[in-house]
Amino acid sequence: MSNHLFQIPLTKLQGVGPQKAEEFHALGISTVGDLLEYYPFRYEDYRIRELSEVKDGERITIQGTIASMPSMQRYGGKSRLICRVTVESMLVTAVWFNRAFLKDQLTLGREITLTGKWDQRRRHLTVADSEFPDRSSAKTGTLQPVYSVGGSITQAAIRKLIDRALNQFGSLIPEILPPELLDKHSLIPRREAISGIHRPENTREGTEARRRMVYEELFLFQLKLQAYRATHLKQADGLVQPVNNDEIRSFVGALPFSLTDSQKQVINEILHDMKQPYAMNRLLQGDVGAGKTVVAAVGLYATVRAGHQGALMVPTEILADQHVRSLGKMFEPYGIQVGLLTGSLTERKRRDLIASLQMGLLDIVVGTHALIQEDVFFRSLGLVVTDEQHRFGVNQRSILRRKGMNPDVLTMTATPIPRTLAITVFGDLDVSTLRERPKGRKPIKTYSVKHQMMDRVLGFIRKEAEQGRQTFFICPLIEESEKIDVQNAIDLHIQLTQALPELSIGLLHGRMTAGEKEATMALFAAGKTNVLVSTTVIEVGVDVPNATLMIVMDADRFGLSQLHQLRGRVGRGEHQSFCILIADPKSENGQERMKAMTETDDGFEISRRDLEIRGPGEFFGTKQSGMPEFRLANLVNDFEVLEQARDDAAALTAMEQFWSSPTYAELRENLARDANLNGEPLD
Ligand code: ADP
Ligand code: MG
Repeated sequence: MSNHLFQIPLTKLQGVGPQKAEEFHALGISTVGDLLEYYPFRYEDYRIRELSEVKDGERITIQGTIASMPSMQRYGGKSRLICRVTVESMLVTAVWFNRAFLKDQLTLGREITLTGKWDQRRRHLTVADSEFPDRSSAKTGTLQPVYSVGGSITQAAIRKLIDRALNQFGSLIPEILPPELLDKHSLIPRREAISGIHRPENTREGTEARRRMVYEELFLFQLKLQAYRATHLKQADGLVQPVNNDEIRSFVGALPFSLTDSQKQVINEILHDMKQPYAMNRLLQGDVGAGKTVVAAVGLYATVRAGHQGALMVPTEILADQHVRSLGKMFEPYGIQVGLLTGSLTERKRRDLIASLQMGLLDIVVGTHALIQEDVFFRSLGLVVTDEQHRFGVNQRSILRRKGMNPDVLTMTATPIPRTLAITVFGDLDVSTLRERPKGRKPIKTYSVKHQMMDRVLGFIRKEAEQGRQTFFICPLIEESEKIDVQNAIDLHIQLTQALPELSIGLLHGRMTAGEKEATMALFAAGKTNVLVSTTVIEVGVDVPNATLMIVMDADRFGLSQLHQLRGRVGRGEHQSFCILIADPKSENGQERMKAMTETDDGFEISRRDLEIRGPGEFFGTKQSGMPEFRLANLVNDFEVLEQARDDAAALTAMEQFWSSPTYAELRENLARDANLNGEPLD
């Protein structure tokens, strides 16, 4: 790389001999370039604060005048130094441990800056660091970077060396991002950013510096992925599926609603891909209720019109039934045949269905993982859609894909983190996002209540029923004890039937036959039952727009994203919807989740909170997950930047000039430098 700071050995810096160089080497720092890119992981704040705004237990820096002679106590080999200091006309007690040498410097009336932990009640500061402004105030007022260090290298030593490197070589730090991207995102120049990360003048400067470098880090990472795709993966061996815009327009025009702008945009992206001779591999993400099904339907319609077949794979039979019903209705006027393939078909029906797929008598098949069995063949598979992708293993999708000659693949999911993260980081996927929900949707009002409020909950159900609306009542299903949970559902059903004799109450659980489930669901979808008592079998995908009340029993036993999915079963029509979480107030962790649920109904935010509560270890499994490690970027908090960087990198590598123009020489060289991506690619 022409950034030759990576060729200047550390020993070129004053004060670094062979031995010091060896120790820095152990930290992975061998050159001036390495040192400058060795970023702090946090800052210590030495900015002076007003005592009135300080909270108990905080680490603070204050300035005052010495108001008493110091007193010293010695015990064992240790010492404690105590002195009164006037701060903003308040008397504060400062305590140092093992700083006996300071005693003589603490003279009455002298100014002093103290940093340490504040005890509000006793007006007591345990001093970690102090400076005398009449002698030095190097730290006072600053944000001091904190690095990860080891061996005999101290924070002070590395700070000093980085300062030296910045002074001596800072002017040689090259810009590597093209000006159009700096402009587009209002990023500060690289030189300023690197200096700003190590010694920010204020929080704003630190933030801007970090923002610039995070973008750069993610952009360079994505540039490698996208460049690899552009040169290796984009082979023109996919199906070209011609799309007749007039036909699409009239199909869309016949829908019972008009599409949102977001839906129109992602449909355009999908149809564009289908026309190209490359196999589409696209992820469609959109929160629960955003309207993903109809987007898939347009794609399926297009593939059938182009003379091929479509497959839609879903994680549960209930969802398969639902999609067959809704797609069947949409496609009927066009003579398009939709079939259902699940594990509970009789052998005879199954064989018939496979035969009609093979002969091309069936245009679209909806199914569970039964779709990917060995003996399922298509005459010509043009589009594969998987719904609720996060419920599938990665391999299941690729098996289905192999049932055709490189068909186009659309993957749909409502959970943006962490699955989406993993596949957008590694997968060679394009991403479409539904950013808005259909117009007129009201936020779902969510309440968390105790079991004792059951009477009022029943009243709520009655009230919704009087207005013609319906209720889901969920009881938990815990994998290990399905039997007990089914019993719970049955008991709750009996209870509700007795408590609400005027209402018709259905029951759904995993031990019922497929036929029973389908019949129960169909009754509820048709509005024939007022309340559906169910286990989590209806967690994903189920769409009954007239249902406005979701009640979750023992909600503290559910994970956050699961609760969000369940809540997403209501709020799918124009009526105001509600979610009542019945939870144990003594479950502390549970209460945190209830709080998140009552505060937001944005799936992305929920996902973020989930991460916060569970911690990143459990979320990603760190290294095992094959996620790359970044110096500055945090894949969860910087997720939007990652998406932006991906789009920028894709656009850039698609340009002819990127591969030839001298403007991008620096970036091309960067590609050549450690060309190997770390981490395992997913499917
Ligand atoms: P999800 O993204 O959760 O799969 P669905 O596709 O099931 O959402 O759509 C949720 C509900 O919203 C369905 O009843 C669907 O018919 C309806 N819907 C979808 N798009 C629109 C739209 N543009 N305007 C009004 N209703 C819509
Ligand atoms: Mg759905």
